[in-house]
Amino acid sequence: MRLLLAEDDALLADALSAQLRQAGFEVEHVENGAVAEYLLLKQPFDLAILDLGLPMLDGLSVLKRVHAAKPQFPVLVLTALDDLESRVTTLNAGADDYLTKPFDFPELEARLRVLLRRSQAAQPAPAGVAASSTLGRLVLEPQARRASVAGEPLELSPREWTLLELLSTQRDQVVTKEQINQAWSGEGGEAGGAGNSIEVYIHRLRRKLEGSGLNIRTVRGLGYLLETSEAARG
Ligand code: CA
Repeated sequence: MRLLLAEDDALLADALSAQLRQAGFEVEHVENGAVAEYLLLKQPFDLAILDLGLPMLDGLSVLKRVHAAKPQFPVLVLTALDDLESRVTTLNAGADDYLTKPFDFPELEARLRVLLRRSQAAQPAPAGVAASSTLGRLVLEPQARRASVAGEPLELSPREWTLLELLSTQRDQVVTKEQINQAWSGEGGEAGGAGNSIEVYIHRLRRKLEGSGLNIRTVRGLGYLLETSEAARG
Protein backbone atom coordinates (compact mmCIF):
# COMPACT_ATOMS: atom_id res chain seq x y z
CA MET A 1 0.00 0.00 0.00
CA ARG A 2 1.56 3.24 -1.12
CA LEU A 3 0.69 6.20 1.05
CA LEU A 4 1.46 9.90 0.77
CA LEU A 5 1.92 11.72 4.07
CA ALA A 6 1.68 15.51 3.78
CA GLU A 7 2.72 16.96 7.14
CA ASP A 8 4.99 19.92 7.89
CA ASP A 9 5.58 19.08 11.55
CA ALA A 10 8.87 17.19 11.19
CA LEU A 11 8.68 15.43 14.56
CA LEU A 12 5.15 14.18 13.97
CA ALA A 13 5.95 13.23 10.37
CA ASP A 14 9.01 11.20 11.37
CA ALA A 15 7.14 9.35 14.09
CA LEU A 16 4.16 8.71 11.84
CA SER A 17 6.30 7.56 8.91
CA ALA A 18 8.10 5.05 11.12
CA GLN A 19 4.84 3.69 12.55
CA LEU A 20 3.19 3.50 9.15
CA ARG A 21 6.16 1.61 7.69
CA GLN A 22 6.06 -0.70 10.66
CA ALA A 23 2.39 -1.28 9.85
CA GLY A 24 3.33 -2.30 6.31
CA PHE A 25 2.74 0.90 4.33
CA GLU A 26 5.14 2.29 1.78
CA VAL A 27 5.36 5.95 2.85
CA GLU A 28 6.25 9.02 0.82
CA HIS A 29 6.54 12.06 3.07
CA VAL A 30 6.23 15.65 1.81
CA GLU A 31 6.32 18.86 3.82
CA ASN A 32 4.30 21.26 1.73
CA GLY A 33 0.98 21.35 -0.05
CA ALA A 34 2.30 22.18 -3.51
CA VAL A 35 4.47 19.05 -3.67
CA ALA A 36 1.65 17.00 -2.17
CA GLU A 37 -0.73 18.14 -4.90
CA TYR A 38 1.83 17.51 -7.63
CA LEU A 39 2.64 13.98 -6.46
CA LEU A 40 -0.98 13.02 -5.82
CA LEU A 41 -1.96 14.08 -9.33
CA LYS A 42 1.08 12.57 -11.07
CA GLN A 43 1.87 9.38 -9.20
CA PRO A 44 -0.08 6.31 -8.15
CA PHE A 45 -0.90 6.26 -4.44
CA ASP A 46 -3.44 4.14 -2.61
CA LEU A 47 -4.31 6.86 -0.14
CA ALA A 48 -3.13 10.09 1.45
CA ILE A 49 -2.89 11.52 4.94
CA LEU A 50 -3.17 15.25 4.60
CA ASP A 51 -2.47 17.88 7.25
CA LEU A 52 -4.66 20.96 6.77
CA GLY A 53 -2.08 23.54 7.89
CA LEU A 54 0.59 23.14 5.22
CA PRO A 55 2.98 25.73 3.71
CA MET A 56 2.89 26.74 0.00
CA LEU A 57 -0.61 25.41 -0.55
CA ASP A 58 -2.96 24.71 2.35
CA GLY A 59 -4.36 21.22 2.87
CA LEU A 60 -7.93 22.20 2.04
CA SER A 61 -6.87 23.49 -1.41
CA VAL A 62 -4.85 20.33 -2.03
CA LEU A 63 -7.88 18.29 -1.06
CA LYS A 64 -10.22 20.20 -3.40
CA ARG A 65 -7.89 19.90 -6.39
CA VAL A 66 -7.15 16.23 -5.85
CA HIS A 67 -10.81 15.47 -5.27
CA ALA A 68 -11.74 17.28 -8.50
CA ALA A 69 -9.24 15.19 -10.49
CA LYS A 70 -9.68 11.87 -8.65
CA PRO A 71 -13.06 11.80 -6.89
CA GLN A 72 -12.58 8.22 -5.63
CA PHE A 73 -9.12 8.79 -4.15
CA PRO A 74 -9.19 8.19 -0.37
CA VAL A 75 -7.87 11.02 1.82
CA LEU A 76 -7.68 11.16 5.58
CA VAL A 77 -7.32 14.70 6.90
CA LEU A 78 -5.30 15.57 10.00
CA THR A 79 -5.89 18.79 11.77
CA ALA A 80 -5.56 20.54 15.06
CA LEU A 81 -8.85 22.34 14.54
CA ASP A 82 -11.68 20.64 16.30
CA ASP A 83 -14.71 22.70 15.51
CA LEU A 84 -17.76 21.57 13.66
CA GLU A 85 -17.43 24.10 10.87
CA SER A 86 -13.94 23.09 9.76
CA ARG A 87 -14.92 19.43 9.99
CA VAL A 88 -17.91 19.99 7.72
CA THR A 89 -15.85 22.10 5.28
CA THR A 90 -13.22 19.39 5.08
CA LEU A 91 -15.66 16.57 4.51
CA ASN A 92 -17.51 18.64 1.91
CA ALA A 93 -14.23 19.23 0.10
CA GLY A 94 -13.90 15.48 -0.42
CA ALA A 95 -12.11 14.09 2.63
CA ASP A 96 -13.14 10.54 3.43
CA ASP A 97 -12.21 10.80 7.07
CA TYR A 98 -10.99 13.25 9.61
CA LEU A 99 -8.73 12.92 12.64
CA THR A 100 -7.98 15.64 15.16
CA LYS A 101 -4.53 15.98 16.66
CA PRO A 102 -3.39 14.63 19.00
CA PHE A 103 -4.46 11.10 18.11
CA ASP A 104 -3.30 7.59 18.90
CA PHE A 105 -1.61 5.65 16.13
CA PRO A 106 -3.87 2.57 16.44
CA GLU A 107 -6.87 4.77 15.74
CA LEU A 108 -5.19 6.27 12.67
CA GLU A 109 -4.22 2.83 11.41
CA ALA A 110 -7.72 1.45 11.93
CA ARG A 111 -9.23 4.36 10.02
CA LEU A 112 -6.75 3.96 7.17
CA ARG A 113 -7.64 0.27 6.88
CA VAL A 114 -11.32 1.16 6.67
CA LEU A 115 -10.62 3.70 3.91
CA LEU A 116 -8.54 1.18 1.99
CA ARG A 117 -11.14 -1.55 2.28
CA ARG A 118 -13.80 0.88 1.11
CA SER A 119 -11.81 2.10 -1.88
CA GLN A 120 -10.77 -1.43 -2.84
CA ALA A 121 -14.35 -2.59 -2.65
CA ALA A 122 -15.35 0.31 -4.91
CA GLN A 123 -12.74 -0.49 -7.57
CA PRO A 124 -12.53 -3.58 -9.70
CA ALA A 125 -9.32 -5.43 -8.81
CA PRO A 126 -6.55 -4.97 -11.38
CA ALA A 127 -6.31 -7.78 -13.93
CA GLY A 128 -4.72 -10.85 -12.44
CA VAL A 129 -4.92 -9.55 -8.88
CA ALA A 130 -8.04 -10.69 -7.11
CA ALA A 131 -9.02 -8.67 -4.03
CA SER A 132 -9.64 -11.98 -2.33
CA SER A 133 -9.88 -15.61 -3.28
CA THR A 134 -11.61 -18.48 -1.57
CA LEU A 135 -10.37 -22.06 -1.43
CA GLY A 136 -12.48 -24.36 0.68
CA ARG A 137 -13.02 -22.41 3.88
CA LEU A 138 -9.82 -20.44 3.36
CA VAL A 139 -10.07 -16.81 2.24
CA LEU A 140 -6.92 -15.07 1.01
CA GLU A 141 -6.59 -11.30 0.66
CA PRO A 142 -3.35 -10.86 -1.30
CA GLN A 143 -3.22 -7.08 -1.13
CA ALA A 144 -3.60 -7.02 2.64
CA ARG A 145 -1.55 -10.24 3.01
CA ARG A 146 -4.27 -11.66 5.21
CA ALA A 147 -5.87 -15.06 5.37
CA SER A 148 -8.74 -16.51 7.36
CA VAL A 149 -10.38 -19.89 7.80
CA ALA A 150 -14.16 -19.88 8.28
CA GLY A 151 -13.93 -16.19 9.21
CA GLU A 152 -11.17 -16.69 11.79
CA PRO A 153 -8.00 -14.74 10.88
CA LEU A 154 -4.87 -16.90 10.56
CA GLU A 155 -1.78 -15.62 12.32
CA LEU A 156 0.87 -16.01 9.66
CA SER A 157 4.48 -14.90 9.64
CA PRO A 158 5.66 -13.23 6.38
CA ARG A 159 7.23 -16.52 5.23
CA GLU A 160 4.14 -18.53 6.06
CA TRP A 161 2.02 -16.02 4.16
CA THR A 162 4.32 -16.17 1.13
CA LEU A 163 4.30 -19.95 1.23
CA LEU A 164 0.51 -20.11 1.48
CA GLU A 165 0.06 -17.59 -1.33
CA LEU A 166 2.46 -19.51 -3.57
CA LEU A 167 0.72 -22.81 -2.87
CA SER A 168 -2.72 -21.31 -3.46
CA THR A 169 -1.84 -19.59 -6.74
CA GLN A 170 -0.45 -22.90 -8.02
CA ARG A 171 -3.24 -24.99 -6.63
CA ASP A 172 -3.18 -28.62 -7.79
CA GLN A 173 0.31 -28.07 -9.18
CA VAL A 174 3.52 -29.03 -7.44
CA VAL A 175 5.43 -26.11 -5.91
CA THR A 176 9.13 -26.95 -5.74
CA LYS A 177 11.52 -26.10 -2.92
CA GLU A 178 13.40 -23.88 -5.35
CA GLN A 179 10.23 -21.87 -5.98
CA ILE A 180 9.66 -21.53 -2.25
CA ASN A 181 13.22 -20.40 -1.59
CA GLN A 182 12.96 -17.94 -4.45
CA ALA A 183 9.70 -16.50 -3.12
CA TRP A 184 11.24 -16.18 0.34
CA SER A 185 14.41 -14.50 -0.85
CA GLY A 186 12.63 -11.15 -0.91
CA GLU A 187 11.31 -11.53 2.63
CA GLY A 188 14.32 -11.30 4.93
CA GLY A 189 13.91 -10.75 8.64
CA GLU A 190 12.97 -14.23 9.70
CA ALA A 191 15.68 -16.59 10.79
CA GLY A 192 16.07 -19.45 8.38
CA GLY A 193 18.88 -21.27 6.68
CA ALA A 194 18.42 -24.65 8.34
CA GLY A 195 18.19 -27.37 5.73
CA ASN A 196 14.82 -28.50 6.98
CA SER A 197 13.28 -25.04 7.32
CA ILE A 198 10.83 -25.53 4.44
CA GLU A 199 9.58 -28.70 6.12
CA VAL A 200 9.18 -26.78 9.37
CA TYR A 201 7.12 -24.07 7.70
CA ILE A 202 5.01 -26.62 5.82
CA HIS A 203 4.36 -28.40 9.10
CA ARG A 204 3.25 -25.18 10.80
CA LEU A 205 1.09 -24.19 7.86
CA ARG A 206 -0.60 -27.61 7.80
CA ARG A 207 -1.57 -27.16 11.43
CA LYS A 208 -2.91 -23.67 10.77
CA LEU A 209 -4.94 -24.96 7.82
CA GLU A 210 -6.70 -27.60 9.91
CA GLY A 211 -10.41 -27.17 9.43
CA SER A 212 -9.97 -25.26 6.15
CA GLY A 213 -10.83 -28.23 3.95
CA LEU A 214 -7.36 -27.95 2.42
CA ASN A 215 -4.34 -30.14 2.72
CA ILE A 216 -0.69 -29.62 1.78
CA ARG A 217 0.51 -32.84 0.20
CA THR A 218 4.21 -33.72 0.06
CA VAL A 219 5.21 -34.99 -3.35
CA ARG A 220 8.39 -36.84 -2.58
CA GLY A 221 11.40 -35.54 -4.43
CA LEU A 222 9.36 -32.81 -6.14
CA GLY A 223 7.77 -30.45 -3.62
CA TYR A 224 4.34 -29.68 -2.26
CA LEU A 225 0.87 -29.15 -3.53
CA LEU A 226 -2.24 -27.64 -2.04
CA GLU A 227 -5.36 -29.69 -2.59
CA THR A 228 -8.78 -30.08 -1.08
CA SER A 229 -9.02 -32.65 1.69
CA GLU A 230 -11.55 -34.62 -0.36
CA ALA A 231 -8.92 -35.09 -3.08
CA ALA A 232 -6.44 -36.17 -0.41
CA ARG A 233 -8.76 -38.92 0.77
CA GLY A 234 -9.55 -40.15 -2.73
CA1 CA B 1 0.76 21.72 9.95
